[in-house]
Amino acid sequence: MLGGLNQANTPEGLKLLLISVVATTISILVHEFGHALVGRRLGGGHASITLWAFGGLAYNQGGRFTKSGHFWRIAAGPGAGFAFFILICLLLSLAFSPRDGWALPANLLFSGGFKVSPQAAEFFLGRYPILHLLYSLLWINFWWGMVNLLPVIPLDGGRIAELFIRPQKRVHQVAIVAAGGMAIYAAVGMQSIYTTLLFGYLAYRNYQSLKEYHWQ
Ligand SMILES: [Zn+2]
Repeated sequence: MLGGLNQANTPEGLKLLLISVVATTISILVHEFGHALVGRRLGGGHASITLWAFGGLAYNQGGRFTKSGHFWRIAAGPGAGFAFFILICLLLSLAFSPRDGWALPANLLFSGGFKVSPQAAEFFLGRYPILHLLYSLLWINFWWGMVNLLPVIPLDGGRIAELFIRPQKRVHQVAIVAAGGMAIYAAVGMQSIYTTLLFGYLAYRNYQSLKEYHWQ
């Protein structure tokens, strides 16, 4: 769905969808390995990763964490994604020219007219699948990484907020405002139905959690 299932009605569209699926799977694994490996280093325990419909979960069973250990374990997921993003930029600058290391990603992410080297332009001309793979990897690791840091439970940003904000009720209030704001921005600014639905749902879920406090 996220990779453009609705456009996969031609062989070319199907190919691009499959590339998106590969890029998403790689990116989720990088993210979860960030959580699991830093968790194993800081708190020990048995690390495991579960992949499911819309992402993954990393566990550190039997791990013992300090508060800062918890923080770094959570931050390591988006951190691994951002590191992966930087690695791709470095590889691009080595493969073509230093300028391509930022100009190519900037063009793909912000659709700006940044000038790339003639070698890079020539290489990617007619190699659209490779460009699509690159675009998917950069997009997922940059934008999803940023969005995942919003203070909305159960996103990583929400789990970080949970470590610092007391009482727990306040965490859900913050999440409702952040998720509601993001849903409105997604509807009006981005015109993305999927992002609107996702954040609308997250705002609703946090509202439900908040309501439970009133019954106690
Ligand atoms: Zn995560």
